[in-house]
Amino acid sequence: MSGKKPPRGERLAQLRRMVSLIARYGWRVRWVVGLVLVLGVVTAFSAKAPLVLVGQVIQKVVMGEDRGIGIGGGNLKFLDEAEERVLRLIGVEQPENLDTPKARVQAKRDTLLAVGILAVLLAVVGGLSMYFYFKLSHYLALRVVVDLRTDLAAHLLKLGLGFFARRKLGDLISRVANDTAVTLRTFSLVFENMLLEPLQLLGNFALAAIALHSVWMALLVIMALPVMAIPIYRFGRRVRKGSGKSLEAMADSIESMSQMFGGIRTVQAFQAEEREIEAFREINERFLKRYMTMIRAKAASHGTMSLLYQGAFAVLILVLGWYSVDPSSRFMDPGDMAILTLALTTSYTHVKRVTRSYTIIMESLAATERIHEMLSLKPEVTNAPDAVEVDRIRGDVEFEGVSFAYEKDLVLQDVSFKAPAGRMTAVVGPSGAGKTTLMDLIARFYDPTEGRILVDGVPLTRIDLDSYRAKIALVSQEPFLFNTTILENIRYARPDATEEEVVEAARAAQIHEFISQLPEGYRTVVGERGARLSGGQLQRITVARAILKKASILLLDEATSSLDSESERALQEALDNLMRGKTSFVIAHRLSTVRGADWILVLDQGRLVEQGTHEELLARDGLYRRLHDLQFQEA
Ligand code: ADP
Repeated sequence: MSGKKPPRGERLAQLRRMVSLIARYGWRVRWVVGLVLVLGVVTAFSAKAPLVLVGQVIQKVVMGEDRGIGIGGGNLKFLDEAEERVLRLIGVEQPENLDTPKARVQAKRDTLLAVGILAVLLAVVGGLSMYFYFKLSHYLALRVVVDLRTDLAAHLLKLGLGFFARRKLGDLISRVANDTAVTLRTFSLVFENMLLEPLQLLGNFALAAIALHSVWMALLVIMALPVMAIPIYRFGRRVRKGSGKSLEAMADSIESMSQMFGGIRTVQAFQAEEREIEAFREINERFLKRYMTMIRAKAASHGTMSLLYQGAFAVLILVLGWYSVDPSSRFMDPGDMAILTLALTTSYTHVKRVTRSYTIIMESLAATERIHEMLSLKPEVTNAPDAVEVDRIRGDVEFEGVSFAYEKDLVLQDVSFKAPAGRMTAVVGPSGAGKTTLMDLIARFYDPTEGRILVDGVPLTRIDLDSYRAKIALVSQEPFLFNTTILENIRYARPDATEEEVVEAARAAQIHEFISQLPEGYRTVVGERGARLSGGQLQRITVARAILKKASILLLDEATSSLDSESERALQEALDNLMRGKTSFVIAHRLSTVRGADWILVLDQGRLVEQGTHEELLARDGLYRRLHDLQFQEA
């Protein structure tokens, strides 16, 4: 997101996208949504009802007036009836005539008792419904966000390697972790407030209408409150802008951390700790500044609101009081006045919560936008509509005039060759020639920009991607192990493989003996990036993993770093076992590899400049010969 102000229409579109995101995820738990709605109504009602009881107490007990114009009597018959029913239930006889002072005191006490019992009942209902309302509305928010976070990560995993190459890891992690956390706060608040607060406001409106005996007056008074919130709308944009920028700064901060910690060796070796921290501090300061932009807008919005409200409240009370001073022509009963005042003060709280929710929505609009942006990305490599699943692959691979560009410049140009099933093809060429790219195309991490790749005579785009990937295995130069047991690391190739199969693969990869010697054997956990194993051992574990996969096509990036001759021999044997009978492509760095290859492809600046057997190519005295003399030295 850029820092530019998006136009108003854009903000609405963003809001719409946020709502549709919530709706999509909310629909999955619609029964909870329904329950929350019902509970919201009950909670709002039981929160407002005691205000009426306060009016009753003031009117009937404190003032001793049984008949009033508002709350006191006549107006709220159901309440009088409820009080009488309560008294009858607990067996209290109300005095028939109220002529004596004693009888009047008794009547007041009875009323007080009835009101008290009603209040306790309401409190119990209110407490229970609030408990469930709060719990479920927050659960709803959590549910939505947790699902969203998982879906987001799942979606990112489906995007191509190109996407990951273009993006910063910190930014991606930040979006999945941080942006969803921001939306959690919003959704919690929105689910909690956006129903309860307007409902309570509506309750206050009803109270005001009773107290003022006029719906129109009540409208005028209560509805003036939300109008006060309108200026706050103005600040929303600044909040959203500030939030977007601070989220970007947060992503930078996470990216910077992952670089520092990931490159800890380099940082310490070059004594760059201070420099790194200084740069990190700067990023965090930038975060602080941007966050403060948002806080300033929020503060302005809260301050303005408070000012407007208190001013309006003062004016209203003075005016109403003015017309109620004279008892003969009094405009409001004291009980009504009390209720109106309470309704107004609590209304302020409700309006404030709603407007706060609004600014918080604006704050997380940027976050949902960043999430939405990711979710709307389409994977670059997808199944064609007519793609077919394969359960067996022979392993004939053919390139037909394949060209490829990551961005604009062609990295491979018009490459054509045939690799028959079961043969080993070595790929050689200077660094940057396009060897890795060629392998990535065979693995279908990318699709060619031009030309096509055929496997068993079928264009790769017409083979179901999942079923194809199940048939290829990869061993890369930098072996990657997950931070779990050796067993699980090997089994990663085929989660349903039995332990016997894993052991068998490890034997073929010449690593079984080593693993068996470990105190915990196959259950040894390898450290972060397998730091506790030597390079050769790591490599053989990844070879075991590839063997277990029983793939038809192998893609191998030979390690450039030389191992000691013992490890070297073990690895070579492991690789021979792996490649036996399979179509394999090897980015070769060793003379023994190119000598053993059935066919050699020589790449230079993206072009396939020579191909043939070792002897043919040597005889030709071209690039291969030069590479041979320079590069392929036996260790
Ligand atoms: P080799 O494996 O032979 O060293 P590569 O296939 O890795 O060569 O790279 C070939 C060219 O493509 C290089 O010029 C490299 O800079 C470029 N390249 C590699 N990966 C990317 C990428 N993800 N985005 C853009 N350019 C890339």
